[in-house]
Amino acid sequence: MTWTGGCFCGEVRYQITGEAYNKTTCHCPSCRRATGAPAVSWFTVALDDFRLLLGIPAEFRSSAHVIRTFCDACGTAISYRNDAMPGEIDVTLCSLDHPEAMAPADHTFTGYRLPWNVLGDGLPQYPGLRSEGISGGTARTGSGANPGTPDSQSVAP
Ligand SMILES: [Zn+2]
Ligand SMILES: [Zn+2]
Repeated sequence: MTWTGGCFCGEVRYQITGEAYNKTTCHCPSCRRATGAPAVSWFTVALDDFRLLLGIPAEFRSSAHVIRTFCDACGTAISYRNDAMPGEIDVTLCSLDHPEAMAPADHTFTGYRLPWNVLGDGLPQYPGLRSEGISGGTARTGSGANPGTPDSQSVAP
């Protein structure tokens, strides 16, 4: 499978070949702050399957072990890498040219979900990491006042 995508202004373009997995919508405060959106949909691919075609996204360490990238001209969030998973990269699903062709399979870090962001899609909701399960992360409640360590969704397989 080949996917293409890029930023709003077109300065950054990428191509992905290979399998996309861990398709999720993340409700963690780091994703929220990094994008200005209530939640961010992501998918994961092998780092070797991700290739920049045009432009070099700017990098930002949103926590000690996480690098997020974005277009330095228009601000579109492009990717997320976690030092704990060096062979993988998460890509913002809605930077794809055809985001309608790939759907998230679940919600993660819903312990931080904003109360007005009501979910009605029936997908599984993980309060924290997917690997912590449906009943995991119950300590994370509220709307983001708890700093927690949400900048780690990529660690969840
Ligand atoms: Zn751009
Ligand atoms: Zn997140």
